Amino acid sequence: MLALAVFGIKNGTINAAVELIILFLVVIWLALVYWTYADARRRIADPLLVGCATAASLFPFVGTIVYMIVRPPEYLDDVRERELEIQAAEARLAELGYQVCPYCDYEVEKDFLRCPNCMRKLKDPCANCGKPLDPMWKLCPFCEAEIGSMAPTPRRARRRRDGTGEQPVAGATVRAERGSASAPAPAPAERSGPSAS
Ligand SMILES: [Zn+2]
Ligand SMILES: [Zn+2]
Repeated sequence: MLALAVFGIKNGTINAAVELIILFLVVIWLALVYWTYADARRRIADPLLVGCATAASLFPFVGTIVYMIVRPPEYLDDVRERELEIQAAEARLAELGYQVCPYCDYEVEKDFLRCPNCMRKLKDPCANCGKPLDPMWKLCPFCEAEIGSMAPTPRRARRRRDGTGEQPVAGATVRAERGSASAPAPAPAERSGPSAS
């Protein structure tokens, strides 16, 4: 009551209250314009569109409401982060064994010796343990055999010494004949062989 008395007569009090409300609305409006500008900058890459959004928010309240309806749903940072995560997931998949043939882009697995699509040689099998070797490797990481000394002759000699005169199965023979003569594909029965011998 004391505060009202300071403003004088009743009409003056109402005027002051209305002016206060208008001031309040103007402050809210200016804050919304700034908020629209700041929000648009985080969601829209094109500066021209950011300017359009800010200009639209100059229409009191309606502009900001319309902007909130049509604005992009994601922050630019989130979009960037998601793209990075997708790239990382693809790289992880590649490490897990999903690769493409360097010649024909056909999807091949990590231990394929030959591309099933274009039939080109992807990897050589280790002469000692038969595991697929990367052409860049200097030795077999599975059995420590030196790749430089890897030749078909010691392998055959070893087999003869072991006395395992078994013939490779028909499929393996065909595969070996299709491949280069220097590196025959191992018969599946022999893959478990070295651990036993
Ligand atoms: Zn291929
Ligand atoms: Zn090996």
